[in-house]
Amino acid sequence: MKRFLIAGNWKMNKTTAQAVHYVHELKAQKLTNPESVAIIAPFTQLEALKKELEGTGISLGAQNVHYEHSGAFTGEISVDMLKEIGVDYCVVGHSERREYFNETDETVNRKLKVLLEEGITPILCVGESLEVREKKQEQAFVCGQLGEAFAGIPQEYAEKVVIAYEPIWAIGTGHTATPEQAEEMCAFIRGMMQGLYDMSIGDKLIIQYGGSMKPGNAKELLEKTDINGGLIGGASLKVKDFAEIAKTAA
Ligand code: 13P
Repeated sequence: MKRFLIAGNWKMNKTTAQAVHYVHELKAQKLTNPESVAIIAPFTQLEALKKELEGTGISLGAQNVHYEHSGAFTGEISVDMLKEIGVDYCVVGHSERREYFNETDETVNRKLKVLLEEGITPILCVGESLEVREKKQEQAFVCGQLGEAFAGIPQEYAEKVVIAYEPIWAIGTGHTATPEQAEEMCAFIRGMMQGLYDMSIGDKLIIQYGGSMKPGNAKELLEKTDINGGLIGGASLKVKDFAEIAKTAA
């Protein structure tokens, strides 16, 4: 059976009080597949959310991590700090971090390594800009991002990484990729990973689509063979919309 991960990336939204209230409301929605659902929240909310999510089956994730365990890195959060809270996932290489916070393929690679060593599942974001797509270079671009991200990572670790295909032109724009465009790239990513490692990694990988996913388009995206879920920004901020998308994947 196809596995799903429906993850709500709240980005820089909600206070802790609002986050806890959201989870109360989410519990009332009676999700049919809570084990396939995760909330990716700002650092300050993680501890409260961990308590609030206890016993629900819903997972918790952070949005970023530093690649060093400790040191003089003002404003950063280490993997040990995330581990102490007990987060399950951590997003790495989101396009907003690549664009605004100097995230590079090299730091992405280092972050993947430290998370995998410490047993937190990375959600690695890849995806091209509109300019790259217009030049029809999207596959070469994503191929480059994946090659750099997984450099030096052995297969038994690589197969644990969730990969989120997030075309930048579809993020927060309302211009969702068509199910065919999303499927084409997710299938390409699976094949590329089989090329980097061996064929057996294909069945193990969870590959998500992200970019303006909402209740109205989730079904046709999630029906596609190579799309194992979604990384959802805007629509995850509203409990009802997020729950509806999650139920679509049940
Ligand atoms: P939107 O769903 O708001 O387009 O955001 C997608 C995203 O960036 C999730 O990480």
